[in-house]
Amino acid sequence: MRSTVGRLAPSPTGALHLGNARTFLLAWMSVRARGGTLLLRIEDIDGPRVKPAAVAQTIEDLRWLGLDWDGEPVLQSERLDAYADAVARLTANGRVYPCTCSRREIEEAASAPHESGDEPVYPGTCRGRYADLAAAKAATGRDAALRFLVDRDEVPFVDGFAGSQRGTIAGDFVVQKRDGGPAYQLAVVVDDAAAGVSEVVRADDLLPSTPRQLLLYEALGLAPPRFVHVPLVVGADGRRLAKRHGDTSLRRFRECGVSPEALVGHLAFLCGLAPRGARVRPADLLAASPWEVLPRGPVRGDDHGLFSG
Ligand code: GLU
Ligand code: ZN
Repeated sequence: MRSTVGRLAPSPTGALHLGNARTFLLAWMSVRARGGTLLLRIEDIDGPRVKPAAVAQTIEDLRWLGLDWDGEPVLQSERLDAYADAVARLTANGRVYPCTCSRREIEEAASAPHESGDEPVYPGTCRGRYADLAAAKAATGRDAALRFLVDRDEVPFVDGFAGSQRGTIAGDFVVQKRDGGPAYQLAVVVDDAAAGVSEVVRADDLLPSTPRQLLLYEALGLAPPRFVHVPLVVGADGRRLAKRHGDTSLRRFRECGVSPEALVGHLAFLCGLAPRGARVRPADLLAASPWEVLPRGPVRGDDHGLFSG
């Protein structure tokens, strides 16, 4: 059997918090327990929000936790050619088309109510409208994005933790942004495939992205990994852990004198793997089997005062 290749793929948009850290610990355990290879990829192309210091901070946070990886970190900002190649292939095969719609226009045109807020369903307005990006610009004076032409409503798949998924796809999605940069969906597929990643463990807020990524694997003739989506760590309001729930960054715990063992112990507690107040190193958890005990739903992560001191 081919050995497992997994990855940690942090977006260095701020300090890592308890939720990110729990997901990374699970991804690390899953690969390390089977003697596989674990890669680190820094997803630093997400616009101006990413500062170089945040990249260094992210790497330092992971090291402080006691997580390790194989080889040098890969930075997405250094892989723009690979993304452009993939877009060129999709273009040559007629799988993408230019779209000049603004967000506002899409919102107005979308008949169906939005899926949980962030993105309206794209109704296909620009399908067949422009021969290419230059024609789109000439016709509208706007820079166009490239959208992937989705030819079905569902891409069913079986998730390693979340189980059978219908894989509903909410319309044609962007693979190249207006500014010419790759969209997350494209970059993640190109990178995971190039690195031979066979297992993706990540938070389940990305479940809706998976059917899109599966279509990109298919269109590019690439083999998809096994996906394992784990529930989010949330605040008292049930929403994903964020600044409004107070500072749950690793950096802050560290500054308050919390040891990495206490912090990993708390993450293990949040995974159902250790009692509250445990002190452990990641390596101590390798004999445990997290998937049977991991809570099936979101866990509260903002009551962290309980484990410090
Ligand atoms: N960079 C993404 C995040 O931090 C993860 C992307 C992925 O795992 O596919 O949420
Ligand atoms: Zn459009």
